[in-house]
Amino acid sequence: MSDKILVIGGGFAGLTAACEAAEMGYDVAIVEREDYLGGRVAQLNKYFPKLCPPTCGLEINFKRVRTNPKITFYTRSQVESVSGGAGDYTVKVKVNPKFTTPQCMNCKPGEEAATTEMPNSFNFGMDTRKGIYLPHPMAYPNQCVMDASVAQSDEGKTIAEAMPDGHVDLSQASETIDLNVGAIIVATGWDPYDATKMDNLCFGRYENIITNMMMERMASPSGPTEGKILRPSDNEPPKTIGFVQCAGSRDENHLSYCSYICCMATLKQITYVREQYPDAQVYVFYIDIRSPGRKYENFYSKVKADDKVKFIKGKVAEVQEGSSNNIVLVAEDTIGGGKVQQEVELAVLATGMQPTGAKVQIPGIQYDADGFVIPQEGIIPCGCAKRPIDVVSSAQSATAAALKAVQTIVRRAG
Ligand SMILES: Cc1cc2nc3c(=O)[nH]c(=O)nc-3n(C[C@H](O)[C@H](O)[C@H](O)COP(=O)(O)OP(=O)(O)OC[C@H]3O[C@@H](n4cnc5c(N)ncnc54)[C@H](O)[C@@H]3O)c2cc1C
Repeated sequence: MSDKILVIGGGFAGLTAACEAAEMGYDVAIVEREDYLGGRVAQLNKYFPKLCPPTCGLEINFKRVRTNPKITFYTRSQVESVSGGAGDYTVKVKVNPKFTTPQCMNCKPGEEAATTEMPNSFNFGMDTRKGIYLPHPMAYPNQCVMDASVAQSDEGKTIAEAMPDGHVDLSQASETIDLNVGAIIVATGWDPYDATKMDNLCFGRYENIITNMMMERMASPSGPTEGKILRPSDNEPPKTIGFVQCAGSRDENHLSYCSYICCMATLKQITYVREQYPDAQVYVFYIDIRSPGRKYENFYSKVKADDKVKFIKGKVAEVQEGSSNNIVLVAEDTIGGGKVQQEVELAVLATGMQPTGAKVQIPGIQYDADGFVIPQEGIIPCGCAKRPIDVVSSAQSATAAALKAVQTIVRRAG
């Protein structure tokens, strides 16, 4: 029997679960696939409803992790197998090399020496980065990393030579470690639904169509446009913007469920637009606006009162390219009646959240047809691995998961 807890996924839910369990006196290991902790929240510009930057909540959790010796974490790592049962699991974890050492916090000399530019996935490919890089400006751990493909090439050697001694280590190799744990919290979160799958919405075909997560990065001061919301085709400020709700969600051909946060995300992003461009005209095409609870409903009411924001109840069925790379959104207006063809300079698809289990499943964990994790005794999902939810509810479900993990251990030990 082990009284250690494994948390898979170091996003807001995983961090919260790990801190709560460790603060109850239990040893916790976090396994995270990316090079940094914080998950998708690290990519947001601001949080609704308070509109504070993501550093607010994340920094508190990073401090709890940093100062608690009961928490160990492995980044650029993945769970390869889970065997055993509640109270006594053996988990094989593959820890991949970063080809750098923890003292490598500034890789400017290596970046300057590197030649290959590659799409920066943190910014959804809207800019590029080099083969050695800091994952993002507020990354925790604050360590630069190198791509394996670069490290194993001549370019890797050039980068290593340019960097100060002891910062790059090209001899690093992956290792597999065994963890013995009593309970497993699965907090593997979500990925944005692949917008290219919705043929009729033409994402990837017309330049001036972006997704809501691209909008978060664009509006962020650390993003590819340093916080300016611009049309990708000409880098000009858009004067008209159309938001397309339920892009994938509530559609049996894509995501059969409501992603819960897309309406609030759009309402929040309208505030980004209105702050930067007081004269811009915004159109929102929706099926229903879902803003549950008092705070979210108040937020909706404020945005609705803005006469520069027009809500059109109708699902966008078709998208065309208009003049000057503009986008024409075509929908049936179910309240006003008739077909609407609205030309906008920039269109934003409010794409839904898809659990990471829809694409990659961890052996030994059970998933439903959509990819959400099914709870088992000793294996407890939380956050968006369990259902699509906001940050506050992710933290609440993570706290509950930590309690359930402790209960499993106590029950099995007795
Ligand atoms: C456009 C948009 C805007 C949003 N804005 C807000 C907002 O303003 N306010 C709000 O409350 N909510 C907002 N949300 C929702 C918010 O992003 C989620 O509630 C939050 O990310 C959930 O946290 P999580 O930890 O469950 O998942 P995630 O943030 O996805 O974290 C999961 C972590 O698990 C890791 N992981 C995944 N698979 C594995 C694996 N197999 N092994 C190891 N690690 C793995 C991931 O790399 C990640 O670090 C928004 C969502 C969208 C789409």
